[in-house]
Amino acid sequence: MKIIDLRSDTVTKPTEEMRRAMFSAEVGDDVYRDDPTVNKLEKMAADIIGKEDALFVPSGTFGNQLAILTHTRRGDEIIVESNSHIMMHEVGASAVIAGVQLRTVQGKNGTMNPSDVERAVRDEDIHFPNTGLICIENAHSSGAVIEIQNMKQIKELAETKNIPVHLDGARVFNAAKAIKTDVREITKYTDSVMFCLSKGLAAPIGSILAGSKSFIEKARKNRKLMGGGLRQAGIIAAAGIIALEKMVDRLDDDHDNSKYLAKELSKFDNIKVKFDRNDINMVFFELHDDIIIEEKFISEMLNRNIKINGKEDGEYRFVTNKDVNREDLKYVLEQIKDILK
Ligand SMILES: *Cc1c(COP(=O)(O)O)cnc(C)c1O
Repeated sequence: MKIIDLRSDTVTKPTEEMRRAMFSAEVGDDVYRDDPTVNKLEKMAADIIGKEDALFVPSGTFGNQLAILTHTRRGDEIIVESNSHIMMHEVGASAVIAGVQLRTVQGKNGTMNPSDVERAVRDEDIHFPNTGLICIENAHSSGAVIEIQNMKQIKELAETKNIPVHLDGARVFNAAKAIKTDVREITKYTDSVMFCLSKGLAAPIGSILAGSKSFIEKARKNRKLMGGGLRQAGIIAAAGIIALEKMVDRLDDDHDNSKYLAKELSKFDNIKVKFDRNDINMVFFELHDDIIIEEKFISEMLNRNIKINGKEDGEYRFVTNKDVNREDLKYVLEQIKDILK
C-alpha cells in the first residue's frame, strides 16, 4: 500500500521526466565549468530569481552557510530571526564554518520588526563585533509568508548601514505563489538568495545560491573550500532544470491541499490549527498528550501507512507535497478520526 508521507516536502520523489532528463543529461567536469547542464541550470536559475549569477550547491544548509561565509569575516555578527532555520536547524554551522556569531531578533511568525533589526545592528565601538549580514527567511519555517513591504524596510535600513541582506528562500517559490507575485518582487530586496530544488519542487538533490556576479565568483571558490566542487553534477542538475520549468506552478495544489487539511483538522474538537501561519504547504496544530500521547499518535498513524514527525515546540506539522493528493488527505483525516475516537 502507498505510504502517505507528511513529514516534509523534502520527501518528494523525482518525477519520471526528471529521471529521464538525468539519464540523458550532457555532463562535464563542473569544477572546470565544463558541465553544460549545470551551466544551463545556473543561468536559468539566475534569470528566474532575478540575480546576475547563480551557483548550484548540494543542499540548502550548504547554500546558506556558503552565503554567510562569503558575505562575512570571521568574528562578525550576523542578524537572524530567532526561529529561523539558520539559527535552529543548521547544527550551529555558522560558528564552525564562517566563524560568526548569531544575534537573534524575535520575530512574529518570522517577521522581524525593522526597528528591532535596526537596534540589533552594532555601532562602531572598540568592544563590539562588526554586523556583517542580515538574514531574512521567506517563506518562514513557521509556515508564514513575510510581507514584501517588511523586506523592503529591512533592505532600506541595511543599505543605510552598508550591510548585505541574505534571503533564506528555501521555499521562496511557495512564498511567491502564496502571495501571487513574481518571485523577483521578493528577491529584489536582497543581495543574495538561496532556494531549494529538493523540497516542494521535487528534485532529488540540490539548491541554488544566487547574487551579483562578483559575489558568486567569490562563492564559487568558497564552495570548493567547503567541499562542494562537484564533477559531473549535470546528472542531478538535469532534475533541477525540470524542477524550475515544471514544478513551480503546481505548488498551488500543495497550498490548496494544505488549506483543505487545515480546515478539516480544525473540525476535530481536540485539534487546534494555527491558521495565522497556514500560508504555504504546511499545517501546524496542537493535539495534547492527554488526548493521545505523541509516540502513540505517530505509531498509530504509521500502522495506517501515514508517516508524520513528532512535535516541535508542542506542535505537529503536516506538510503537503506533490506525492500527496486530496484522496490521500481524506484517508488521513478518516484515520485520525478513528485514532481519536
Ligand atoms: C530546508 C530548509 C533549509 C535547508 O535545506 P537542506 O537542503 O535541508 O539543507 C534552509 N532553510 C529553510 C527555511 C529550510 O526550510
